[in-house]
Amino acid sequence: MTDNTDSPLRLRLDGEALAANWTSLARMSGAAACGAAVKANGYGLGAVEVAHRLADAGCRDFFVATWAEAREIAPLGLSVSVLHGVREAELAAALAGPARPVLSTAHQIARWREAGGGPCDVMVDTGMNRLGVAPGDIAAGLLDGLSVSTLHSHLACADEPSSAMNEQQRARFAALAGQTGATRMSLANSAGIALGSGYAFDLTRPGLAVYGGVPVPGLRDRLRQVVRPEAEILQRRRVLAGDTVGYNATWTAPADTEVAVINLGYADGYRRAFSNVGGARAGASTLPVIGRVSMDLVALDVTDAPMLGEGDWVEIDYDLPAQAHASGVSQYELLTGLGRRFDRYWGQ
Ligand SMILES: *Cc1c(COP(=O)(O)O)cnc(C)c1O
Repeated sequence: MTDNTDSPLRLRLDGEALAANWTSLARMSGAAACGAAVKANGYGLGAVEVAHRLADAGCRDFFVATWAEAREIAPLGLSVSVLHGVREAELAAALAGPARPVLSTAHQIARWREAGGGPCDVMVDTGMNRLGVAPGDIAAGLLDGLSVSTLHSHLACADEPSSAMNEQQRARFAALAGQTGATRMSLANSAGIALGSGYAFDLTRPGLAVYGGVPVPGLRDRLRQVVRPEAEILQRRRVLAGDTVGYNATWTAPADTEVAVINLGYADGYRRAFSNVGGARAGASTLPVIGRVSMDLVALDVTDAPMLGEGDWVEIDYDLPAQAHASGVSQYELLTGLGRRFDRYWGQ
């Protein structure tokens, strides 16, 4: 790990935990292959670094949303599927390979077929009503003549294990086995893997859990925290009893309070929902967020940490399930919002 940074804001990223999380999910996927969603810049961690580390761990199938994301990791020479399919403007780039579009509309399928495109993936909608062609259209011959590598569908309620929709979608998807010429079938995201072996088919597509997010309590013990934000203290001050801190004066000092102002804000993805709710730590000291989170600054109560001063660093509490619960912001948003002002440091 390098500490000689100029930036007052950094993400500590645990490469070992990332690989271990993926390996855990791969094991839970049983005989199915386990891929990884690395869209949205690897859920905010950095797509190139993530993909290369997961490839080293044994991952062979990567999923991005757009062709720009596919281009970014192209130099790694991995198998990449582009979940949003292929728009007219992207056709030339898509035909040039090597990434495959995940075709999800009749237009896209016609476009790909007429252009003489090679192996592709297809998304079928089994009830989410987001992306995907209808099973009935497949039965009517929509995919005829296509060379389908992987047939995908996506679960709407995988993080609600008791939802009847899971089994409904699984059954609709399973009914397509042998109907499309697809080499493989893939249904499960992170939470879908936890639903059991019936959901794994030939290939799983976890994202959140690879990065330490815990979509269902059952995965808690199998996953480790990967992302640890750290910020530098810009100023320490004493706030007298009755005085307030931050925009709109939402926090009033109940007694004289030691306060540190750190280099972090909602423009970095540290959401305003952490106002008066979030926290940080330095050694054994816990440092609650006080007042509003500003665009670039956050105030912490450091009464508990008399030695902390200007230029010292604190670790922001970022255990994903706990902080999502505290803030009401989803674990997905807590990850993908992590901004460009963080210097990203990989350990291991
Ligand atoms: C984002 C995405 C995934 C990964 O989902 P997680 O909930 O992050 O595991 C899998 N499949 C599709 C189609 C996706 O869009």
